[in-house]
Amino acid sequence: MTMTDARPKVGPGQLYVAGRWRQAAGDGRLDVVDPATGDVVTTAAAATASDVDSAVAAARAAFPAWRDTPARERARVLRRVSALIMDRADEIAAVESLDVGKPIMLCRNVDVPTAAETYEYYAALALTIEGAQRGVPFPAHAYTRREPLGVVAAITPFNFPLILSSTKLAPALAAGNTVVHKPADETPLSALLMADLLTEAGAPAGVVNVVTGTGPVAGEALLSHPGVDKVAFTGSTAVGRHAASVAGANLKPVTMELGGNAAHIVFADADLSAAVDAVIKAFVFNTGQFCMGGPRLLVQRSRYAAILEILGQAVPGIPVGDPFDEATVVGPMAGERHLAKVEDYVRVAVSEGGRVVAGGARVPGQGFFHQPTVIADLPADSRVVREEIFGPVLTVQPFDTEDEAVELANSTAYGLAAGLQTRDVARAHRVAARLDAGIVWVNDWAMLDPSMPFGGVKSSGFGRENGPEALADYTRTKSVLISLEH
Ligand code: NAD
Repeated sequence: MTMTDARPKVGPGQLYVAGRWRQAAGDGRLDVVDPATGDVVTTAAAATASDVDSAVAAARAAFPAWRDTPARERARVLRRVSALIMDRADEIAAVESLDVGKPIMLCRNVDVPTAAETYEYYAALALTIEGAQRGVPFPAHAYTRREPLGVVAAITPFNFPLILSSTKLAPALAAGNTVVHKPADETPLSALLMADLLTEAGAPAGVVNVVTGTGPVAGEALLSHPGVDKVAFTGSTAVGRHAASVAGANLKPVTMELGGNAAHIVFADADLSAAVDAVIKAFVFNTGQFCMGGPRLLVQRSRYAAILEILGQAVPGIPVGDPFDEATVVGPMAGERHLAKVEDYVRVAVSEGGRVVAGGARVPGQGFFHQPTVIADLPADSRVVREEIFGPVLTVQPFDTEDEAVELANSTAYGLAAGLQTRDVARAHRVAARLDAGIVWVNDWAMLDPSMPFGGVKSSGFGRENGPEALADYTRTKSVLISLEH
């Protein structure tokens, strides 16, 4: 596979604490690898517990002034962040593409504008934070205030670094909190760009601090830090379970955005060609490294053979290649460990009786590429069906009735997203209501907007990102009662 020379040059990263760039206390470094070539392109600082201490102290120190900054001024800062993201869209898109291996067109058309829209949306919502006056049966003026929580620890995963940091930082800052952000070890670069950009937009020193580092060192120090008032975590269910228990032991509020394994149900009455487009989008979007992707296809039996035949023809034609090639739809997996995991699941699928309808192997040569893969005929209790693969792999199962489809869809431990294809409006509403998921799409996939909340049920976590719901998660209510007699 040939690579273009469009890759940006990125210098070594430092930590951003109290409005300044600094080295990590232990001089530790993390390698940043280009997933398309396997080459180390730069390094980032590996924060120690003492760096996390400094970052939390900076966020604590900045909190009172930011909390007391009028919401209108906080909104102005967020609007400027949004504008600056779009001013620097090409640079940010290229860095995100290099770091994660995401196709450049996806970065330009989805990641960068979504991040900008998220800041813009919460700039508007900052002005809506309000309490309520209540009538009480004794002489008092009684009202509630919505107040920020304090210092938010934002811990984010590798797959959507820019968007998922924006969905935490924008509402947290809008509500008047300060933040310590720890991006994923493998993909720290856009968080560093954003630190500069937030400062340029007017966020005072200490309001946003970025500590790059490993989960077990920097992440762990942040989770258990007594100076942190809330943990906003997005990542795997396994690490989330641990993070929730540490935060729980310290009685810190948490939001947990965890793994997913969504079912995509195609009913026999669906528009077949539109359904297949949605099915492909759902499982290859972001190279399948999408918590809300649709890796489990359930097809009503009368359409099962037809859909498998169309997928068998269409999937091998999906452009896989250099993320910097504008025609690329599927790039590399973000890291070697992710590729190895996908290869392992495909091996297990075959050993469990799965029939490979398309793809089925890594792409030989440099980088961490895996072919988009479709596997049919696996039993419902197959590990490959039940677990989160997190790669461009689709399993396909038949069903007969609506009840059976819902039962199969709800049969895994996860519950983040789900979707269905049907032309029957009544069925669309009925099935949407019965699916265990935080978001349901009908007749398309991945329709997302900062105003529409998403989040998990069951092992996919709790709390919501986006919408007024997320803003509420970054505030708490205080009741004030003033006697009118004394
Ligand atoms: P991960 O759980 O390995 O890491 C997530 C973050 O946690 C990283 O910043 C990591 O450094 C940190 N971390 C790791 N160990 C830690 C520890 N002991 N203490 C504190 N922090 C620690 O997840 P990942 O591989 O980066 O991301 C993929 C996972 O994230 C998938 O399961 C995916 O479904 C999930 N995800 C969920 C959503 C959602 O909105 N629900 C969105 C994107 C990704």
